[in-house]
Amino acid sequence: MLQYTVQNRFLKYVTIDTQSDPDSQTTPSTQKQKDLGHVLVAELLEIGLQDAHLDEYGYVYATVPANTDKAVPVICFCAHMDTSPDCSGENVKPIVHANYLGQDLVLPDDPSVVIKLKDHDDLQHQIGNDVITASGTTLLGADNKAGLTVITDACRQLMDHPEIKHGAIRVLFTPDEEIGRGVDKVDMGKLAADFGYTIDGESAGTIENETFSADGAQLVITGISSHPGFAKGKMESAIKIAGKILTELPAKLSPEKTAAKEGFIHPVYISGHVEQAVIDFIIRDFDDEKLEAHAKVIRQVAESVLKDFPHASFTLKIHQQYRNMKQMLDKHQQVIDYGMEAIRRAGLKPRLRSIRGGTDGSRLSFMGLPCPNIFAGEHAFHSRQEWVSVQDMQKAVDTILHLCSIWEEKS
Ligand SMILES: [Zn+2]
Repeated sequence: MLQYTVQNRFLKYVTIDTQSDPDSQTTPSTQKQKDLGHVLVAELLEIGLQDAHLDEYGYVYATVPANTDKAVPVICFCAHMDTSPDCSGENVKPIVHANYLGQDLVLPDDPSVVIKLKDHDDLQHQIGNDVITASGTTLLGADNKAGLTVITDACRQLMDHPEIKHGAIRVLFTPDEEIGRGVDKVDMGKLAADFGYTIDGESAGTIENETFSADGAQLVITGISSHPGFAKGKMESAIKIAGKILTELPAKLSPEKTAAKEGFIHPVYISGHVEQAVIDFIIRDFDDEKLEAHAKVIRQVAESVLKDFPHASFTLKIHQQYRNMKQMLDKHQQVIDYGMEAIRRAGLKPRLRSIRGGTDGSRLSFMGLPCPNIFAGEHAFHSRQEWVSVQDMQKAVDTILHLCSIWEEKS
């Protein structure tokens, strides 16, 4: 029987505010993320990971040395330290609802925040478990402090149980994942891992091998300005052109009309005056060809609208954000197969899923580290209703331990 330390570790990590800031230009975006980095390094050193350290950019690296003579690929387990800028992460007061029995969880610091079984499907699997929530005024930070917790406890188990045979296991904790910069400053040479797993998923038993492919697009419209009193037949307002383009984009290609494997075009920012207007879009799809087709839709709509404005013009610039990790994972099927087997050995039914978003793993997969995402038990992230169960985190620890064994067995 393993003795787990997930509950105490998790309760400690969530009380450290690590909110990232998209408006900051520094790495990490907020220095307070290093406060947690220092705590994690101290814990990893105490466990016996002698090379554990925090670098100048706020990344934590550490290694569990191999304890087998076999040549086993180096496996990296990755989680992020920051919490979402969308919801306060200051002064988080975690509450353990021991032996949850399906009741409404009323959060005391704001009783209008009530976590109900009927709103959270996965709560039905938590009867008898210990569910942790925040107190009503902040997020909890299970995204992704549950991942940090699970990886740290798994490292401790590996050090305490030499009978579990494994190759070198690399730990990577990143800052700034929530603002899309989680892997900007990863030292891939230092990491020197062959395959990776982010531990940042939702329901127990899930493994995610697909993310969106993502592009950003900027449409700049140049209109014709004129004194409004004498504008007849002359003025071509960039503001009105921008409005017309937005209304003529296909409604079915919007976030609010799409789900599952459907992609979308989403205007996220607009600014302008008569002479010039700028619209920023994000474009998402699982399929790169469809992603390109969505960009063409923006161009076609702009061309068509501009027919009524013969002196106005536009430019459209597309820039790549990240790509669907499946393109890389399909070349290394064993990464997923072993993940599924590890989940099975942990006593769960493995479920393969796709993410309508990106992860640190989507970019790592294209930086040479194929990296699907495994559950950490996080739920309702980026909100005051966020919750996680102690038992799901324990299952994630078991999954990591089995995964380490499986890579050794198959080598
Ligand atoms: Zn996350």
